[in-house]
Amino acid sequence: MKIRTWGCRGSIATPGLTTLRYGGNSTCVEIRPSTGQTIIIDAGSGLRNLGSLLIQEKETAPIRFFFTHSHWDHLVGFPFFRPAYLEQFSIGLCSGPHAEDTMLKSLNHQMTSPFFPVDFRFLKAKFEFRCEREHGEYGNCRCHGLEISQMPLNHPDGGYGYKFMENGKTFVFLPDNELGFRHEGGLSHEQYVEFCRGADLLFHDAQYTDQEYMRARGWGHSTFGEAVDLALEARVKCLVLFHHDPDRTDEDLDRQVQWCRERIRMAGSAVQCYAAKEGTTIEL
Ligand SMILES: [Zn+2]
Ligand SMILES: [Zn+2]
Repeated sequence: MKIRTWGCRGSIATPGLTTLRYGGNSTCVEIRPSTGQTIIIDAGSGLRNLGSLLIQEKETAPIRFFFTHSHWDHLVGFPFFRPAYLEQFSIGLCSGPHAEDTMLKSLNHQMTSPFFPVDFRFLKAKFEFRCEREHGEYGNCRCHGLEISQMPLNHPDGGYGYKFMENGKTFVFLPDNELGFRHEGGLSHEQYVEFCRGADLLFHDAQYTDQEYMRARGWGHSTFGEAVDLALEARVKCLVLFHHDPDRTDEDLDRQVQWCRERIRMAGSAVQCYAAKEGTTIEL
């Protein structure tokens, strides 16, 4: 599968001169399984550019969304997703177990007057609101040849992270997850380690430095150090630091990546570590 980042900024989109290299769009990640269809995780502001690309492509293969939660930075791009306005597209909407009704309500809500001039009902694509789920602890499902597991997030208002598996390769996506604090519905550190165990690629929340976290405890996000320690404990092959703080400049991120790599080196590990960057594609 190919994983492409369209938005990796947390909390709010931050266009501007200080975020040019890593990008200012909020969360949106595309997965292309070997079947060639399109899976989209979250509908942050980065989704608008992905929508334009999908329209340029000749084939209109079914699109399936997996939503992590309803916070604005993860939904704000949906009303600007042009394929949703065209009848030749078919779009499935998935989220964690029992969360589909909430997600649908949230998508509808942000497109009602006076928040947005076009009502969800006027979208022309064919929508499918349920996904077939096998029985599993948190409900597994299959989609476009991928096997997918869900994982509750440690985050205010809850949410779900995902594990995507294809041909023996594993990609774990935990974008808004506070490892050092227990929110309602969230799980223990050990359970996240278990979920990530041996993953080829982990995108994990790394919004704060240790110092910043002192004033942000309980806000739903992890530190760089916590993300690195999770990757080390779970023995993942590659860690991608995700959900960049809106105040984090490109130079800040370069420094944090060096800091994380040093922590990994000191632990005697060979885990690769990068900061998520808009426009990059990783192939597993
Ligand atoms: Zn977020
Ligand atoms: Zn959030």
